[in-house]
Amino acid sequence: MDMYIIEKNMKDRNKVIIDLFRERRTYQEIGDMFGISRERVRQILKKYVPDEIKERLLEVKKRTMYKHAEMVERLLERESKLKRGCIKCGKPITIFNRDMCRTCYSKWAYYNLPGRKARCMAAAKKWCKEHPEAAKKINNRAALRWYHKNKDKAMTYQKKYIANLKLDKKRYDHYKKGMSIRNRINYYKKKDDKEKLYHWQDKLDNWKKNKIV
Ligand SMILES: [Zn+2]
Repeated sequence: MDMYIIEKNMKDRNKVIIDLFRERRTYQEIGDMFGISRERVRQILKKYVPDEIKERLLEVKKRTMYKHAEMVERLLERESKLKRGCIKCGKPITIFNRDMCRTCYSKWAYYNLPGRKARCMAAAKKWCKEHPEAAKKINNRAALRWYHKNKDKAMTYQKKYIANLKLDKKRYDHYKKGMSIRNRINYYKKKDDKEKLYHWQDKLDNWKKNKIV
């Protein structure tokens, strides 16, 4: 490009400037090519193609107006989203994660983002290995919560389980023994009789050790 420009003389230079202007180059770019100022480029263009300059100015104005309108729209949308809150629970949003609050987003991501569930499960398993007692408590709580939510399902499962047990007399007797021990523990818990409670809890531990699989 530079060689091309140097070979042209001054009269041809203006033609090249006009061509470059029609190629949608900026004044600054054209000026840099010829080693002249942006203002000088504008003066030359105004002399030869004043209508085109006006057109270009209008275009730029429109583009900036459009950009401004877009920005305002985006801001308004953001404000309305903030007013509405999380799309799942309605709590106020602090960080924009697909229009959800932080807890809803993490729940959503767990089931919908690829690989998220596997990573979470691996981390949970690692944590459970490091804290076995706390993990046991959490698991028990989760199981209870599930039981209260799906009582009908749980009952059918239990019925199926017992029906299966009844096929094998030895296993069924063992199961019945465990149930009676648990009933006694509940009874003494209500009565607040600690001595007997400890006694039966020891029995329950023994029963767990002798579990028939
Ligand atoms: Zn939410």
